[in-house]
Amino acid sequence: MNNEAQLKGYVHNVSAVSTAKRGSLRYFRFHFQVEEGDKRRAVCYDLSKRKVLKSYEEAREPVKLSNVSGKRCGGRMAEENIVLTRRSRIEPANNFDIHFEYEEGNGSGDDQQGFTAIEAIASLCENQMISVKGCVTFEGECVKQVTMKDNSIVPMLNRCTITDNTGIMRLTLLGDAIQQVVNNKCYIIEHVLIKKYDGMKYVATNHKTVISATEEKFNAPTEEAFETLFDVEKLMVDKIHLAQSFKKWLSCCKCRKKLIDTSCSGISIVKCGNCKTVQPLSVCCVNASVRIAVRNKSELIWLKAFTPVLEEMLRHPAPDVTVNSPEEEIYQQFFDLQNVSVEYGKSSFTITNIYFESL
Ligand SMILES: [Zn+2]
Repeated sequence: MNNEAQLKGYVHNVSAVSTAKRGSLRYFRFHFQVEEGDKRRAVCYDLSKRKVLKSYEEAREPVKLSNVSGKRCGGRMAEENIVLTRRSRIEPANNFDIHFEYEEGNGSGDDQQGFTAIEAIASLCENQMISVKGCVTFEGECVKQVTMKDNSIVPMLNRCTITDNTGIMRLTLLGDAIQQVVNNKCYIIEHVLIKKYDGMKYVATNHKTVISATEEKFNAPTEEAFETLFDVEKLMVDKIHLAQSFKKWLSCCKCRKKLIDTSCSGISIVKCGNCKTVQPLSVCCVNASVRIAVRNKSELIWLKAFTPVLEEMLRHPAPDVTVNSPEEEIYQQFFDLQNVSVEYGKSSFTITNIYFESL
């Protein structure tokens, strides 16, 4: 943020007045929504502004902040932080200047400073941006390279958790974020996205995430609590015995939700029921799933494979077979697979990883 910037948006979560640990500096915090889905943290050192901001919050009226500045945070400029002082001005903004709606807060999961309790995340919606704080715990050797939507390759540490006084949750660190944390230290992590995988919510860093150390103390999780979040079983598979229910569907290229009604012939564009984005069918993502039966000791167990794993199962034996190939060719590839090991969720029976033995 440039110094002395001007911002328009909505006021959320005006906090009580706090006193800084050292000295007598008093301040309060709030969130300032500058865009759809983008609430920034703000701190105000002029207590006389609290009542005014509170009234804008209650009225849900747009407001213009001027003479505000950014703030240094953990040595790097945290663009998301807004600082108000006595010089800052608060004025009503014209409704026509603002092209987005007042967005509901995170509800009861939010504490006064706008952090979401870990326990509350399970009941929140996917793709919501939140801020959390707690103890970050990880197994450092689990960094792998993943391909992002834009085809860039980014390191990912996903055997990682964040723990506060209410609970523990998986935290996926991407790119730079991996270098910014030390195992079992406490951090404030602003702007993480809620994601869901294998039926379980987790939070993930992104380009808006700001990580800063905190002096607040949170206990590290027990080894058992950590391990149960990564509830995976590894199984050696000599071959796939049976397969069924190969399915394919298109999902929105923006929000990745499944698109309905794409089967009618003749249509070439589609509107997402979830995010309302209109898109040509050709840019939608193709997703697929299949159920396969493999032998675990003496019994057959059925496991589910979804797009990324399924694509790998096809690509490995025959690079020219894709989810768009004829169904018979696809099934044939599954039965041609030999000596793979799979990792799957013990409760979901969904394959999370597949490894091919090098012979
Ligand atoms: Zn969508």
